[in-house]
Amino acid sequence: MIRLLILGVLGYLIYQLFAGGKSAGGGKKSTARRPPADSGGRMVKCASCGLYVPENEAVLKRQGGGQVFYCSEKCAAGAKKKPD
Ligand SMILES: [Zn+2]
Repeated sequence: MIRLLILGVLGYLIYQLFAGGKSAGGGKKSTARRPPADSGGRMVKCASCGLYVPENEAVLKRQGGGQVFYCSEKCAAGAKKKPD
Protein backbone atom coordinates (compact mmCIF):
# COMPACT_ATOMS: atom_id res chain seq x y z
CA MET A 1 0.00 0.00 0.00
CA ILE A 2 2.75 2.42 0.95
CA ARG A 3 4.66 1.49 -2.17
CA LEU A 4 1.68 2.45 -4.27
CA LEU A 5 1.50 5.77 -2.50
CA ILE A 6 5.18 6.47 -3.12
CA LEU A 7 4.75 5.52 -6.76
CA GLY A 8 1.86 7.91 -6.99
CA VAL A 9 3.82 10.74 -5.45
CA LEU A 10 6.80 10.04 -7.70
CA GLY A 11 4.56 10.00 -10.73
CA TYR A 12 3.05 13.27 -9.68
CA LEU A 13 6.43 14.85 -9.18
CA ILE A 14 7.63 13.69 -12.57
CA TYR A 15 4.47 14.97 -14.14
CA GLN A 16 4.99 18.33 -12.47
CA LEU A 17 8.56 18.41 -13.77
CA PHE A 18 7.45 17.96 -17.34
CA ALA A 19 4.29 20.00 -17.13
CA GLY A 20 5.72 22.89 -15.19
CA GLY A 21 8.84 23.20 -17.28
CA LYS A 22 11.96 24.75 -15.86
CA SER A 23 10.55 26.85 -13.10
CA ALA A 24 13.34 26.23 -10.63
CA GLY A 25 16.80 26.87 -11.97
CA GLY A 26 17.64 30.51 -12.29
CA GLY A 27 15.47 33.03 -14.03
CA LYS A 28 17.88 34.47 -16.55
CA LYS A 29 15.73 33.69 -19.52
CA SER A 30 12.41 35.28 -18.76
CA THR A 31 10.70 34.50 -22.00
CA ALA A 32 7.53 33.44 -20.28
CA ARG A 33 4.33 33.79 -22.19
CA ARG A 34 2.43 36.92 -21.45
CA PRO A 35 -1.19 36.66 -20.49
CA PRO A 36 -3.68 37.86 -23.11
CA ALA A 37 -4.79 40.70 -20.93
CA ASP A 38 -2.54 43.71 -20.63
CA SER A 39 -4.32 45.08 -17.61
CA GLY A 40 -1.80 43.54 -15.26
CA GLY A 41 -3.98 40.57 -14.48
CA ARG A 42 -3.77 36.86 -14.89
CA MET A 43 -6.40 35.28 -17.07
CA VAL A 44 -8.43 32.50 -15.56
CA LYS A 45 -10.86 30.16 -17.23
CA CYS A 46 -14.47 29.97 -16.19
CA ALA A 47 -15.13 26.44 -14.97
CA SER A 48 -18.66 26.62 -16.28
CA CYS A 49 -18.62 28.16 -19.75
CA GLY A 50 -14.88 28.21 -20.45
CA LEU A 51 -14.66 31.96 -20.93
CA TYR A 52 -11.40 33.62 -19.99
CA VAL A 53 -11.67 36.49 -17.58
CA PRO A 54 -9.13 38.54 -15.63
CA GLU A 55 -8.41 36.99 -12.26
CA ASN A 56 -9.38 40.14 -10.41
CA GLU A 57 -12.76 40.13 -12.12
CA ALA A 58 -13.41 36.43 -11.81
CA VAL A 59 -15.73 34.92 -9.23
CA LEU A 60 -13.76 32.66 -6.96
CA LYS A 61 -15.46 29.73 -5.33
CA ARG A 62 -14.07 27.11 -3.03
CA GLN A 63 -14.98 23.64 -4.13
CA GLY A 64 -13.72 20.38 -2.70
CA GLY A 65 -10.72 21.96 -1.05
CA GLY A 66 -9.71 23.75 -4.23
CA GLN A 67 -10.41 27.04 -5.86
CA VAL A 68 -12.58 27.34 -8.93
CA PHE A 69 -12.97 30.44 -11.05
CA TYR A 70 -16.09 31.58 -12.81
CA CYS A 71 -16.67 34.48 -15.15
CA SER A 72 -19.79 35.58 -13.29
CA GLU A 73 -22.00 34.81 -10.34
CA LYS A 74 -24.47 33.40 -12.82
CA CYS A 75 -21.97 30.78 -13.95
CA ALA A 76 -20.94 30.08 -10.39
CA ALA A 77 -24.53 29.42 -9.43
CA GLY A 78 -25.35 27.52 -12.58
CA ALA A 79 -22.35 25.26 -12.32
CA LYS A 80 -23.39 23.94 -8.98
CA LYS A 81 -24.92 20.62 -9.84
CA LYS A 82 -24.43 18.75 -6.61
CA PRO A 83 -26.21 20.05 -3.54
CA ASP A 84 -23.89 20.50 -0.64
ZN1 LIG B 1 -18.79 31.44 -17.24
